[in-house]
Amino acid sequence: MTANTTLRAVIGAAILAGVGLGAVEAVVLNATGRLPDLLGLLWPLCIRWAGVGGLLGLAAYPVALAGSRLRKHRLLWWIAAVVIAMSVFYLLWKTARPTQLTRWHQAAIWAVYAALATVSIAAPVVLCRRRPWRNVLAGAAIVASPIVSLIDPVHLREIYLSLNIGQLVIAMSLAGIGVYTWLRRQAYVPPAGRSLVVVILLAWMVPGARDDVASLYFGSTRFEFVELRLRPIRIPPIPDSSQTEYLDLFDVPGHAAARATWRSRRPNAARMSILWVTVDAMRPELVDSDTAPTIRDFAKQGTWFRNAFAQSSSTAMSTESFFRSRYPASTSFAQGKPPGRYPSLAEVLRARGHQAIGVTGMGANLFGPNKVFARMQHGFEKFVPGLKATDANDTVDQLIANVDPARPFFVWIHLFDPHVPYVPRGDVDTAASDRVRYEGEIRYADAGFGRLLAWLDEHGATDRTIVVVNADHGEAFGEHGRYFHATSFFDVQIHVPLIIRVPGIAPGRVAAPVGNVDVAPTLLELVGVDAPDTMQGRSLLPTLLDPALPYPRAAFAESPHDWTWFQFRVATDGRWKLHYDLRTGLAQLFDRSNDPGERVNVVASHRKEAERLLEFLAALDRHCR
Ligand SMILES: [Zn+2]
Repeated sequence: MTANTTLRAVIGAAILAGVGLGAVEAVVLNATGRLPDLLGLLWPLCIRWAGVGGLLGLAAYPVALAGSRLRKHRLLWWIAAVVIAMSVFYLLWKTARPTQLTRWHQAAIWAVYAALATVSIAAPVVLCRRRPWRNVLAGAAIVASPIVSLIDPVHLREIYLSLNIGQLVIAMSLAGIGVYTWLRRQAYVPPAGRSLVVVILLAWMVPGARDDVASLYFGSTRFEFVELRLRPIRIPPIPDSSQTEYLDLFDVPGHAAARATWRSRRPNAARMSILWVTVDAMRPELVDSDTAPTIRDFAKQGTWFRNAFAQSSSTAMSTESFFRSRYPASTSFAQGKPPGRYPSLAEVLRARGHQAIGVTGMGANLFGPNKVFARMQHGFEKFVPGLKATDANDTVDQLIANVDPARPFFVWIHLFDPHVPYVPRGDVDTAASDRVRYEGEIRYADAGFGRLLAWLDEHGATDRTIVVVNADHGEAFGEHGRYFHATSFFDVQIHVPLIIRVPGIAPGRVAAPVGNVDVAPTLLELVGVDAPDTMQGRSLLPTLLDPALPYPRAAFAESPHDWTWFQFRVATDGRWKLHYDLRTGLAQLFDRSNDPGERVNVVASHRKEAERLLEFLAALDRHCR
């Protein structure tokens, strides 16, 4: 038997064994209830193990080639160097806390990649002097893809979080070896083996293959967040019915009467100013805590919506949704059009003579202007970016410098501090936990909010200014295996504070489910302007006047249709909350009253509730059409 035949047999057997192992694993997981979607996850598991088999087969080459002409000790050195670099990277990733991505960690990760690149490019040159350019190309292939992924630090954060990074690095190295051997056209990889390796690598690189597997084990990747422990089950798709039973979801009864009452009470409403404060990533329970004393006192002076939801858990998507009062799947972003397609609150108020100024604490990131910042300038006459370091005090200074409090204004101020990274503030130590540093930033932003209220007072503007406090999304600290936001629609990421204080309206607490999408129509109605037809939210004026009204009846969140990492729709009536996966038809239903952590999926035992919420989604579709 020649060396080549032996190699072919080794790699073939290893890959086939991997496929078999993957199939066995899938069947066992299905039988034990951890894998409801057997067919959907069978192939990623097979590919995963086939890849491992291929890697083992490759590792066996030098052994199988013993006695051949190849200078195998050099090849072994090369493989050892790559494995060491991968291990160091893996350790770095494992030891750092996921949300504590310091400059040191970033620098260390870059250094390891640089070392990996040097080894990968230099070693083949040393190994084969005859065609150095091919080897340089081959070595570059090993490192190119991960480096491309790392260029954007936000993306880095996500990759860093997804626990499949080890798989990614292995796959990349395997890809490099495959390309390297292909380019060298040397004898030590047989043609059949080469082709197999390439097919496996291509399949492995399909995000679905990697991420479905990772979510199966860790439930925390960016791409897939069906939690298998929660046992989602398949239910019929959203009905396209013409029933009208739930159309009142978008019409709050008593609207005309409420409007007349308000007009008679506030004849000068059109001169009222609006200060809208968005505290990035603020969780609603913090309103009730010592962490945000100013906002807590403020909540007692205004209408406090206890069941308010962001329509998305991403900053850019959520703000576009609330500025233009469009549900995320109906935004111009989702339609692939420029943002000017639907009028924004700022544009409507500018046309009525208000100053419309936006101020955000979102600054430039490591590699230049923040992409999200560019997406948030929704029709303001002036939109002031943050300084390089986000600081609520600076953000408030920017507002004070740019707004004339003597004229009617609409000002949106975005206190960006609580967004990652969590900078230690005041007496909070650098070594404190993520949660403690995050709350320190909320406290810091809360003090900034206090300065804003004082500024209104100073200029005698308090009794002619409507003040709104909300958040663009929540923040996860490991709940459901996730961190930060924009990775799920569980309450920790979309249940938000919403408080509206209107001079002349008594304080109150509202239990009805509402959305940030409702804020713009509400503000327009308060200052006596008709909301454009394109706005999909509902005016909450009747609710502000009578907080006990059992309306609105539902709130929603959804991904724009082309979001790659998850495509979900959520409907809630305040108590029941349905998560519906558009891609798989899998559904989860939670009882928020008895299970606020959304730990137990009760869709099987409460089909009627789930179907009612699906009807709500159908009503939303009709409303948005
Ligand atoms: Zn945000």
